[in-house]
Amino acid sequence: MTRQVVLLGATGSIGQSTLEVLRRNPSKFTLVAAAACSNVEAMVSLAEEFKPQIVALADVQAASELKDRLGALKLRTEVASGLDGVLEVAAAAEGAVAVAAIVGAGGLKPILEAAGRGCTIALANKEALVMSGQLFFAEVQRGKARVLPVDSEHSAIFQSLPESAQQTLGHCDLEGCGVHRILLTGSGGPFLHTPLEELPHVTPQQALRHPNWSMGPKITVDSATMMNKGLEYIEARYLFNAAPEQVEVLIHPQSVVHSMVSYQDGAVLAQLGLPDMKTPIARALAYPGRVASGVAPLNFAALGELSFCAPDLRRFPCLKLAMEASVTGQSATTALNAANEQAVAAFLAGKLPFDGICNLCRQVVESLYRHETYSLEDIMSLDAEARTLALRLLEKC
Ligand code: NAD
Ligand code: MG
Repeated sequence: MTRQVVLLGATGSIGQSTLEVLRRNPSKFTLVAAAACSNVEAMVSLAEEFKPQIVALADVQAASELKDRLGALKLRTEVASGLDGVLEVAAAAEGAVAVAAIVGAGGLKPILEAAGRGCTIALANKEALVMSGQLFFAEVQRGKARVLPVDSEHSAIFQSLPESAQQTLGHCDLEGCGVHRILLTGSGGPFLHTPLEELPHVTPQQALRHPNWSMGPKITVDSATMMNKGLEYIEARYLFNAAPEQVEVLIHPQSVVHSMVSYQDGAVLAQLGLPDMKTPIARALAYPGRVASGVAPLNFAALGELSFCAPDLRRFPCLKLAMEASVTGQSATTALNAANEQAVAAFLAGKLPFDGICNLCRQVVESLYRHETYSLEDIMSLDAEARTLALRLLEKC
């Protein structure tokens, strides 16, 4: 029997890598539903190739165009539109693997919908977890869903943990499993060696040139500021129920060791591979088995040096800010995530300098710190408030 797959964020970088894995394993997986924002062309070719039962575009006008296009091709794929349409696609996840690859806060409601349906969630969208860690895992438990990490570092940590921890994501007992510490690695991005005084003037073009990974624009900028590693620190704490001191961030410029787990007996387990998201995607789709992903094996003889060092928090203040927000609590991480999305969009549009990203995020987090937020309404209203404040501050830049 094939495993059914629902793809949320089908036209993006993770979405397209997921389709490559499915293409390679047609007898093992069936794509039953897919959603994206507005890319009609990509959705037409997806529908032609995979013939899912339902697709959705969040953009209502684009969805209507897609409906006409699929009608003309005489495809029987149903087309849904708007947020309700995306939620309809998420609801099709019952009994399936839902790949959560919508970028940013827009992915939160669809993920919660899928979680409530008792599916397996292959989680790429770290922002949703950063915004709503407690709520998300409460929904996962209520819906008897299961979470498998797709973010490469968290997939590596997952693979380096014992099965008892893999089975209890969100509330696992790291110390009880003999874990000393999680070692979360990051490349340091394109500005690891840029003189500090040049950092305020780097351009979006330079920031989008990641040395190892090919990814969507938002996460690529997050990698340049290392906000990405900060969001991943928060993600790791939620996924593996880790105390702040149980996660250590390490710079590893080659992106070959995707992360590690250091045990109390002195052993360190790691997962290695070429930097290609098809590996963690394939791992999550096939879990507990493995399928071909199309990623070449590592050639150790040709690899050369693997190096590690501690991050310089003066160079990467966003990392520090995110780690502090994680300790402060969920309201701080929700505000941080919203402010960062606005700041990155403004940086990419040429309206904010590179070092302005951290300053803007800090101002929003400091202004909006408040009591813990648990309900979806609280989270969404704090998210909206943080975006409004970020936009107001941006007007003054
Ligand atoms: P991307 O920008 O390439 O793609 C985003 C996808 O989300 C697109 O399909 C887009 O249409 C869809 N989308 C955006 N807003 C939507 C909405 N409101 N409703 C429905 N669909 C919407 O982004 P990406 O690089 O593929 O990243 C996706 C997620 O995976 C992010 O959360 C990112 O942090 C995470 N992630 C990505 C990588 C990577 O290598 N790209 C690695 C680890 C984690
Ligand atoms: Mg990652």
